[in-house]
Amino acid sequence: MRVFKIGIIGLGKIAQDQHIPVIQANPAFALVAVSSQRGLSVAGVPHAFKSHGEMLERAPELDAVAICTPPQVRHAIAREALEAGKHVLLEKPPAATVSELVDLKRLAEKAGKTLFATWHSQCNRAVDEAKRALAGQAVKRLHVAWKEDVRRWHPGQTWIWEAGGFGVFDPGVNGLSIVTRIMPEPVFVRRAALEFPANADAPIAATLELSTGRPGEEFRAEFDWRQTGTQVWDIMIETERGTRLTLAEGGRRLTIDGAVVADEPAREYQRIYERFAALLADGQSDADDAPFRLVADAFLVGRRVTVEPFHP
Ligand code: NAP
Repeated sequence: MRVFKIGIIGLGKIAQDQHIPVIQANPAFALVAVSSQRGLSVAGVPHAFKSHGEMLERAPELDAVAICTPPQVRHAIAREALEAGKHVLLEKPPAATVSELVDLKRLAEKAGKTLFATWHSQCNRAVDEAKRALAGQAVKRLHVAWKEDVRRWHPGQTWIWEAGGFGVFDPGVNGLSIVTRIMPEPVFVRRAALEFPANADAPIAATLELSTGRPGEEFRAEFDWRQTGTQVWDIMIETERGTRLTLAEGGRRLTIDGAVVADEPAREYQRIYERFAALLADGQSDADDAPFRLVADAFLVGRRVTVEPFHP
């Protein structure tokens, strides 16, 4: 089996929680380099650099890089990596704007390299089962509730409150990535209300009215970062035939008409790297921009509501 030499760029929360251990446990990859602005290193990983530029120059053996930085800087880093002849895995959201992602697809194609825009919440068996169950059906009701405590999940992260940091859409796009994966017809944003704290450039909450364009639909998504206590990452769907699906716990658990169809421990990042290995072996890319377009559209049509300042 071919082993792909990979480097991680940006050693923040998700790199440490998921990318490092998952890559190290996957025999298709060898983690040979990391780059960290703060100068962090990882035990057993031969190279540690302070910038991605240094990594690309001084670790020529790298086949691929995983970019785990905030989204604002992803395009510039991915561009340099592709131009240096590396395959690229992007954390979500894949870039700062839709046009940047389109550009990265073009650059990957031109370089003949794999570009993988990951959507980790899609990588659950329950999501696959929901997609199968909904195929060919008409959906009457859709309710997405993604409500979590920003202080608990994003401690010390200032970039999420800056323009281009996406605010509550940083987790919200995970729910939307499941919606775009499982819905039998494409949905779009009809109306949105975005709640911006008076001291931030990104929303703390958002409500979206979604539609496929069919009359009589009730499609709604609610994202809120002010949730304390029970954290909610649920999607409820009712079809025209009256079938009710509930995807709970971020897409990990599926019930259909009350019966449990899938309920397995999450292995989202394991599946991400299994898919990346398959894409690399086949010379393919996977850079679906559908979830990202819904976020962009919410900002396009969204009404801005100013709410009380947020203090972390
Ligand atoms: P984070 O903890 O802030 O980590 C991002 C890291 O990127 C920083 O620690 C820093 O690491 C590096 N970095 C920051 N600014 C940079 C810049 N201007 N240029 C280059 N590198 C920079 O954030 P995170 O939670 O890991 O999130 C990173 C991405 O993963 C986001 O897009 C997020 O949506 C996604 N994600 C996060 C989670 C989660 O649970 N947190 C889950 C799934 C996906 P160094 O100092 O080491 O360079």
